[in-house]
Amino acid sequence: AHQAALAARSKDNLRSPICCILGHVDTGKTKLLDKIRQTNVQEGEAGGITQQIGATYFPGEAIKQKTAVVNPDGKFEIKVPGLLIIDTPGHESFSNLRSRGSSLCNIAILVVDIMHGLEPQTLESMKLLRDRKTPFIVALNKIDRLYGWKKVDNNGFQESLALQSRGVQNEFKNRLEQTKLAFSEQGFNAEVFYENKSMARYVSLVPTSAHTGEGIPDMLKLILQLTQERMVGSLMYLSEVQATVLEVKAIEGFGMTIDVILSNGILREGDRIVVCGVEGAITTNIRALLTPAVMKELRVKSQYVHNKEVKAAMGVKISAPGLEGAIAGSRLLVVGPDDDEEDLEEEVEADLNKLFSRVSTSGRGVSVQASTLGSLEALLDFLKDCKIPVANVGIGPVFKRDVMQCGTMLEKSPDYAVMLCFDVKVDKEAQAYAEENNIKIFTADIIYHLFDSFTKHMEEQLEKKKEESKLLAVFPCVLNTVAVFNKTNPIVVGVDVVDGNLRVGTPIAAVRQSATGGKEVVSLGRVSSIERDHKQIPICKKGQPSVAVKIEMGGHQPTYGRQLEESDTLYSLISRASIDCLKEFYRKEVTNDEWALIIKLKSLFDIN
Ligand code: GDP
Repeated sequence: AHQAALAARSKDNLRSPICCILGHVDTGKTKLLDKIRQTNVQEGEAGGITQQIGATYFPGEAIKQKTAVVNPDGKFEIKVPGLLIIDTPGHESFSNLRSRGSSLCNIAILVVDIMHGLEPQTLESMKLLRDRKTPFIVALNKIDRLYGWKKVDNNGFQESLALQSRGVQNEFKNRLEQTKLAFSEQGFNAEVFYENKSMARYVSLVPTSAHTGEGIPDMLKLILQLTQERMVGSLMYLSEVQATVLEVKAIEGFGMTIDVILSNGILREGDRIVVCGVEGAITTNIRALLTPAVMKELRVKSQYVHNKEVKAAMGVKISAPGLEGAIAGSRLLVVGPDDDEEDLEEEVEADLNKLFSRVSTSGRGVSVQASTLGSLEALLDFLKDCKIPVANVGIGPVFKRDVMQCGTMLEKSPDYAVMLCFDVKVDKEAQAYAEENNIKIFTADIIYHLFDSFTKHMEEQLEKKKEESKLLAVFPCVLNTVAVFNKTNPIVVGVDVVDGNLRVGTPIAAVRQSATGGKEVVSLGRVSSIERDHKQIPICKKGQPSVAVKIEMGGHQPTYGRQLEESDTLYSLISRASIDCLKEFYRKEVTNDEWALIIKLKSLFDIN
C-alpha cells in the first residue's frame, strides 16, 4: 500500500486540474480565454492545445511555451500534465461542476475590470468560490486602458509596468490599492502576485490585458503554481469515475446529448451510466463518446470524432438513448460490475431531492425555479443567507402548474405569492395565469437581481400595509387641557402635551370615575388638526408650547360640561390592535420613552 501511495503521488499520476473563469459581465472573460487559446506566433505553434466539449485542454508543453517570458531560466517546473479550462465562463458553469457538495473545479480565475473594481457578479462569484472553498486568483483585466499605457504584446506584467511613465505607474498603484481595499471589505486579503508571500493567506492579483496579452503569461504561471502548491493531493488520478453534466442539448443526428466534464477516471463507449433527470434517475448506455473534430479531420462528415474511451480530465459529449429531461449539474455515475443499479439511481436522485427538501417547515415561503442543479443550489444558498423562506422548488421552465402551486400562498401568506426564477423561461400561459391571479414572477440571470426584486416587492407590500394600518397605529400621549374653546362637535381645546407626542389622527379619550365607582373610558374622537399661532402642525411633542387641537367624531360626541370636564386628563386611546400595529410597522419610529408610556396606558385602559 505504501508503494502504491508513493506511485500515486508521482507526477505521472497527477491529472490535469480543471479551471473555471468567473466574473462580472464585460470584464473580459471570453476575451481572456480567446487570448490564452491563441498560439504564440513568435514561439511557434504551442503544440497540443485541444478543443474539447465545453473545455479547452492546454498540455504542459503549451503552457511552458506560453509562460516562457516569465520563466526564462526554466526554474519553474510544471508538474501537472496540463490544464483543462472550461469554455463557458461564468458562475453558471462553475456551480454546475459539483459533486456531493464540493466543486469539481479545482481552481478559478476571477476576472475584475481594473477600471470598474468589484461589481455585483464579482461579489456573487466570490461568494460561490468561498462556499465551495475553491482556490482562485484574480485577473485585474484591461490594464491597457490605463491612460497612456504603452503595450508590449504578450509581455510579463512586471516588465511592461517598468516601461510605463510615472503617471501610468501611479494610476496603476492607486487602482491596485483600491482593489485591495475592496477585497478586504469582502473579507479577502489580496496582494499583487509579485508581492504575495503566501498564496494560502492572500489572494493573488494579476494585472492582465486580454487585448495585448500582457500579464497572461503571469496568470498561467500563477494558476499552475497555485494548483501545484495547494492541491496536488486532490489531483491524484483515481480510477473511480467522477463526472458532471454541464449541458443538455439536442444535436442533429444524435438526439438528446449531454456535455460532460470528466474530472476523474475513464469513460468507455458502451458504459452503463446513471444521471439525474427531472422525472427521476436516467439509466442508459453510452452510444457514442464525442469530441470535436479538428480541422484536418473535417473530411469525415461529422463535426465530431467518436472515441472508444476518454480519460480525465476531459470534456466530452455523450450520446445515449433516453437522455431527455437530464439535468445540467447532475453527477454522472458509471454502473460497475459490482454495483447495484438502483443504489446508483438513488444516489443521483438524492442530489435533486436534497435541494427539493430544502423548503421551510412552516410551508410558507416563495417559490424558486432554476435551470440547473448548480444554479438552483446557488440560489437556495443565497436565499438562505438572506433569510427568505422557500416553500416550493422547481427545475426548468415555469409552467402554469408551478404558478398554481405558488398561488396556494395567496391565502397562507400573500407576500410570498412570488416566484423567483433564475435563468429559466416562463411559459406564456403561466405568465397569463400569474397576472390574473396577482402572483408575481421575477426572472433574472443574476441572483442579486432576484434578491433586489424581492426586497422591493416586500417593501411595497409593507408600505401598502402601513398605509392601510395608518388609522390603527396610535402613538401614546398624555394631555392637560388648559382651555376649552368649543364644547362639542367638534371639540376644540387648548392642551399641553405632558408626555409622549400628539399627532394628527390620534384617537383621544378621558378616563373618568363612573357612577358605580369603576373606570369609565370616554372616547372623544380623533384629532383632526393641531394648531399653534394659527399654523397647522402635524405633531406636538412633550414640553412644547400649548397647542389648539380639534377633535372630531363620526357619531355622538361627548360635551364639555356634561360627560367631560376641563380638569380631565386626556390620553391617546390605545388598544391591543394599535400596539400590535406599532410593533409590526413602526418599531423603528417608536422611542423607548414611548414604549414606557404605552405600558402605563396599557394598565390605564386595562389592556392585557
Ligand atoms: P465577458 O462578458 O466577461 O466575457 O467580456 P468580453 O470578453 O466579452 O469583453 C467585453 C468587452 O471588453 C469587449 O468589448 C472586449 O473587447 C473588451 N475587453 C476585454 N478585455 C479587454 C482588455 O484587456 N482591454 C480592453 N481595452 N478591452 C477589453
